[in-house]
Amino acid sequence: MITFRDVNKHYGKFHVLKNIDLHVKQGEVVVVIGPSGSGKSTLLRCINRLEPITDGGLEVDGVSVNHKKTNINKLRQEIGMVFQHFNLYPHKKVIDNITLAPTKVLGISKKEAAETAMLYLEKVGIPEKADVYPAQLSGGQQQRVAIARGLAMKPKIMLFDEPTSALDPEMVGEVLDVMKSLAHEGITMVVVTHEMGFAREVADRIIFMDQGQIVEEAAPAEFFTNPREERARVFLSRLI
Ligand code: ADP
Ligand code: MG
Repeated sequence: MITFRDVNKHYGKFHVLKNIDLHVKQGEVVVVIGPSGSGKSTLLRCINRLEPITDGGLEVDGVSVNHKKTNINKLRQEIGMVFQHFNLYPHKKVIDNITLAPTKVLGISKKEAAETAMLYLEKVGIPEKADVYPAQLSGGQQQRVAIARGLAMKPKIMLFDEPTSALDPEMVGEVLDVMKSLAHEGITMVVVTHEMGFAREVADRIIFMDQGQIVEEAAPAEFFTNPREERARVFLSRLI
């Protein structure tokens, strides 16, 4: 579903991604971990071309992301993204936040979009919040709305960039629970997180990045009990 082949990326002179090779299969849940500044967000942002790569090959669902002829808007419809900061429209009700893209981009009728939005609000556990404004919600609830909004486009891939990092600790669990249930439904997910419990329980594969490189790639049981790379060992030991 996602293929990086020897991808490099520079920000000016700064070499932020170095020789990235990564293959994510359909339905796979890949968790990306690593120190701050290691290039995790940049890696995610390349997948929907929020950042262009400098060289190498990057394909999503068989489409070359950076090819001139690629219809990037169409490709982006297949890729939902959830950020640390929820970026909901503050002046729109929850339901309207969710129906906006399906009606404007996919051309779905308001009525159908609203019905679908309610299904996803139920899925994330807050159907009763459809008619309130984002400011009336807790951080955890806002992030669940952001997830529902992403799902409403029926993407093939969901990207999560530290979705719980801005939340108060008591709200982290409710967002992770929603992500866990998604993971079990077979949507392809790439998740950047510092939540090692989630990574251990839900990931099919852990990618450990440091200084722009994928340093280690392993199944969670293997990675957490016996990381091969010294940098991964040091990273894990600092988390405890
Ligand atoms: P992470 O998500 O792992 O913390 P990032 O992908 O955000 O890492 O950043 C990797 C490195 O690239 C950092 O050193 C960061 O300062 C730098 N960087 C990120 N975005 C930009 C940008 N738009 N321009 C220049 N440098 C950037
Ligand atoms: Mg980041």
